[in-house]
Amino acid sequence: MKHYSMYINGEWFNTRNVLGVENPATKEIIASVPNGGSDEAKIAVNAAHAAFSTWSKTTAYERSEYLKNWFTLIEHNQEEIAKTMTMEQGKPLKEALSEVQYANSFLSWYAEEAKRVYGETIPASHSHKRLFIQKQPVGVVAAITPWNFPAAMITRKVAPALAAGCTVVVKPAESTPLTALILANFAHEAGIPKGVINVVTGDPKEIGNVWLDDPRVKKITFTGSTEVGKYLMRRAADTVKKVSLELGGHAPFIVMSDANIKKAVEGVIQSKFRNAGQTCICTNRIYVQEGIAASFIQEFAAAAALLKVGSGFEEGTDIGPLINYNAIEKVQSHISDAVDKGAKVLVGGNQLIAKNGYYFEPTVLSGVTDEMVCMKEETFGPLAPITTFKTEEEVIERANNSPYGLAAYVYTENLGCSIRVSEGLKFGIVGVNDSIPSVSQAPFGGLKESGLGREGGHYGIEEFLEVKYISIGI
Ligand code: ADP
Repeated sequence: MKHYSMYINGEWFNTRNVLGVENPATKEIIASVPNGGSDEAKIAVNAAHAAFSTWSKTTAYERSEYLKNWFTLIEHNQEEIAKTMTMEQGKPLKEALSEVQYANSFLSWYAEEAKRVYGETIPASHSHKRLFIQKQPVGVVAAITPWNFPAAMITRKVAPALAAGCTVVVKPAESTPLTALILANFAHEAGIPKGVINVVTGDPKEIGNVWLDDPRVKKITFTGSTEVGKYLMRRAADTVKKVSLELGGHAPFIVMSDANIKKAVEGVIQSKFRNAGQTCICTNRIYVQEGIAASFIQEFAAAAALLKVGSGFEEGTDIGPLINYNAIEKVQSHISDAVDKGAKVLVGGNQLIAKNGYYFEPTVLSGVTDEMVCMKEETFGPLAPITTFKTEEEVIERANNSPYGLAAYVYTENLGCSIRVSEGLKFGIVGVNDSIPSVSQAPFGGLKESGLGREGGHYGIEEFLEVKYISIGI
């Protein structure tokens, strides 16, 4: 079994105890990583803090070159990274490959954006004064990332942080540390100076607490569950750190009666079943306007039934395994709750026990009502509940009736309707006839309990910059 070391201060680092990494397609332990804790977390902050004094003084052009070198190495090794990702996370290899490219797009985009961190001059109210605004890196950044996008959630945080002049300590999810460590290896090969990027694997709470308590860590950037996000935010208050949170979502997918049904079916299949339904912007609830409900439901159910479930390494797989058994139980409990309350299973509904991994059939439910758990809580699995609605106003109100506000989708061929609905939806991201809106140059983030701050685009780098006002008397 292969062992991967963690990466601190430009060196490969080990602990006496190790953690196993499981392949969710086979339940085999495929590799081990160090089981780090508070000691390693502290050493990593020491390294990042020391490196900050020099990294923050490099020019944007130098930082850009490092990011470009890292980009090139990832590009040349994308197949290897994608295979490791499929092995530890389960997603189909073609999805893993597109994630590596998406992850890498943050490196290339922020390699350019590093050069566009502009200051400002402000007209003074006295003739003997000059007022300047300078942007400065916040300092050491702690990034805590989830398992559903093992590469992209790291680069989406680390690329803008490095571009801004910050150094980082990263804790990848326990289930997917291998991709993170491979990325660290390419950062090392790219010549990124020691201590600028540090990746610590191991106990989340121990590592997290050290970073939360250390006043040298100036920013926490997190993607994961709302529950852990709230905990981090509360704890970050003690040292008044900056906080960015990308938390849960509960995306509505709205199909208006004038929608192009073929496009809407294609869109919802992509948005619902990508990564087996395990993304925070995956469709969670489908609202179809009464006029086209029957034909939409028929076409969608037929398309969902054709999706192939299997190992991510098998040719033609559309849906890989879920991450673990808890994920299977959650989908099952959402289905039983809905069926008990009157929903009908049109497609799927079961775990695939014949296969060894954590496989679940794509499942479509009709006759769903807003009281069912799947219409309120994130399923994070291949479950598509469908309900109907009568009017535009009604669907906006029902879609907004959630503590979450990350992504929403609306399919319509009517321009006015697309504007009214997208403006009315209280979500950070709205896809109008577009089910895959995430790109490195646009801001990704949620409203309400879905999070704070934005990642991607020129907004993303601001999260790692302080605004310094310099008033000069002349
Ligand atoms: P999920 O339910 O998707 O696994 P989590 O919020 O539990 O989401 O995990 C996201 C990331 O947060 C992971 O890297 C995990 O190890 C980390 N994490 C979980 N609990 C804590 C904690 N108490 N402190 C710091 N990090 C944590």
